[in-house]
Amino acid sequence: MRHSILVLLLSLPTCQLAAQQQQAKASGAQVARAVDSLALRAHLEFLADDLLEGRRPGTRGGEVAAKYIASQFQRLGLKPAGDSGTYFHQVPIITLTPNPVVRVGTASGSELTYRTDYVLWSLRNEPTTNVSGELVFVGYGINAPEYQWNDYQDLDVKNKIVVALVNDPGLRDSSIFRGPILTYYGRWTYKIEEAQRQGAAGILLVHTTESATYPWTTVQSSWTGPQVRVEKPPTSLLVAGWLNYEAATRLFREAGQDLSRLEQQAHQKGFRAVPLGSQLQATVRSTIQRSRTNNVLGRIPGQGRLAEEMVLIGGHYDHFGIGAPVKGDSIYNGAEDNASGTAAVLAAAEAFVRSGARVGRSLVFIGFAAEESGLLGSEALVARPPFSLRQVAAALNMDGMNLYGRTADIGALGTDQSSLGPTFRQAATAEGLKVTTDPDDLKRGYFFRSDHFPLARAGIPGLSLQAGMSYVDRPAGYGRQKKDEYIAQRYHQPSDEVLPWFTLDGAIQQLRVIVRSAVAVANARSQPVWNETSEFRTAGEERRAGRKSEEG
Ligand SMILES: [Zn+2]
Repeated sequence: MRHSILVLLLSLPTCQLAAQQQQAKASGAQVARAVDSLALRAHLEFLADDLLEGRRPGTRGGEVAAKYIASQFQRLGLKPAGDSGTYFHQVPIITLTPNPVVRVGTASGSELTYRTDYVLWSLRNEPTTNVSGELVFVGYGINAPEYQWNDYQDLDVKNKIVVALVNDPGLRDSSIFRGPILTYYGRWTYKIEEAQRQGAAGILLVHTTESATYPWTTVQSSWTGPQVRVEKPPTSLLVAGWLNYEAATRLFREAGQDLSRLEQQAHQKGFRAVPLGSQLQATVRSTIQRSRTNNVLGRIPGQGRLAEEMVLIGGHYDHFGIGAPVKGDSIYNGAEDNASGTAAVLAAAEAFVRSGARVGRSLVFIGFAAEESGLLGSEALVARPPFSLRQVAAALNMDGMNLYGRTADIGALGTDQSSLGPTFRQAATAEGLKVTTDPDDLKRGYFFRSDHFPLARAGIPGLSLQAGMSYVDRPAGYGRQKKDEYIAQRYHQPSDEVLPWFTLDGAIQQLRVIVRSAVAVANARSQPVWNETSEFRTAGEERRAGRKSEEG
């Protein structure tokens, strides 16, 4: 036995041996020890400085931030991982301001009033979009194989306009889906994506006043102004919009249908879509603006047969720039959101380089662009990936680090979704931390609100780091109080700046867990997998099989 190993070792070329020895050295503890709080603080203070002018995409401050990240990657010896051998990956942005006209062709010939009855926007990249088609009520508009639920069963919606309820049926019946925990199937973005997959020409979401829904005034203000998105090749889906509940009730009544009765049917399994027997005709004129910004990507190459695969470690570097002054301050510095996460990405890259640790899969460090404009940087990464998404094992996101002190616990969005949950728990345990989940994060669907999420939708398992809630040497409730205080007083305001009482002890704890998790994923025999019950499992399987077109 011994003899045969010796023969094997002797027969290996020396360079391969050296590589193996180096690889054997790589451990999470080694990288965790190399995490440096001085580096973290320096990056945070630079990125959140007034000189960066709030890092708005397309402004001088935004560009300086991107250049700073690229320079740090270069200094650390990271390989460019963006477009054509650079650190930059372009995010093409199109902004459409809609001006729609809608007619519904029922017997009584109903007119709908813009803003009061409906909002509607174009999904094309052109100044005029015309659509006309038969209206079909598709219930919740959900196709969820893991819940054996398909509202599009045996239905052909080509050239049709689907009318769908927002939220998922679990909100009304806790025995289905995940009950009060909002699944992605409940989000309005999902409804649009599914209608697109089904080949519909348009979709109208019926607005309801359930707790998980925005009030109609929010719908009015959010969808009548400029609609910002990543410019992608158009699909068959031409328009999307919202119908006010009263307007929808009227529309259904004119078609001889009862909306509230159909709603009851829609949250029962086996619901079948109902054609409304009326036509909708719409013209959306849009004023169009185009702009661009950049994600910033640097890579530490892996070693061995998994080196082509990678683990992403990212955080968004953009914020709101200069805006309406609050108490005489007009610079939206975004210190916590998200100079802190960007600083953490840079400090993580530095820890890997300084530790000399080598891991199997490559590590790709990312400064995401334009997150605050609607996750545009991460959307663009999926829409025009600079590498094959099949090779991406996992995405670890940092959006808002803990700047309030040491904790006994730690959290991450997505621990309930994939095998990254146990990996993260192991990394936390090694750092003496318990993993806890804030139930509010699940109910409000926070998993769907940062840059790991567009990647999850493309099938890549991900986590987004959260602070713990139990602070060391602080009274119980301190964590909750700090979180509430941040939301009420600083979130998305000029007062989100570096404060004298900030301490990085908690952020260092978090960062040590992230680098340990990254090492674990990078060295694991196989890529992490989505849980059986996850709404992203199908996307994950399609990605691994290469069935899904990577152009989105
Ligand atoms: Zn953020």
